Amino acid sequence: MKKKHQFDFHTFFDNRKCKFSKCQYPIADQEHATREYCPKEVLPDGTIKNCKDDYWAVIKKEAKTIYKEMELFHKMMAERLDHLFILNLPTITVDILESTGIELTKSLFYRKENEISYFYFIDYFVTYNSINKQLKISKHENELF
Ligand SMILES: [Zn+2]
Repeated sequence: MKKKHQFDFHTFFDNRKCKFSKCQYPIADQEHATREYCPKEVLPDGTIKNCKDDYWAVIKKEAKTIYKEMELFHKMMAERLDHLFILNLPTITVDILESTGIELTKSLFYRKENEISYFYFIDYFVTYNSINKQLKISKHENELF
């Protein structure tokens, strides 16, 4: 796990809360803007608190078939892309995509034009420029099916 900046104080003006409904623990303003869940943590009794996994485990429990799983996966990708898109970060790095759980290799469609690779998901596509290594998230209105 990567070391994050530690602050001596925490404020909660933005009123952010962990997205896992059974938790909803406040998220400090000093946490990175992309944080939606509590950090993964080993509790004193040795169990692991992982709100991000728990959140999706509840949703996945409903999934009975591969089709349902695929549907949920792409809903999850669209939701995560939407989350990043709205944050309007000055630069998107591979690290940010990975820590947000966006899996480019599982896009619905992929194409490459010269140095630009296009990864299509529901509602959004991600472009990757292999020359300047820039990633960009854009909205699209194509019907993919
Ligand atoms: Zn939590």
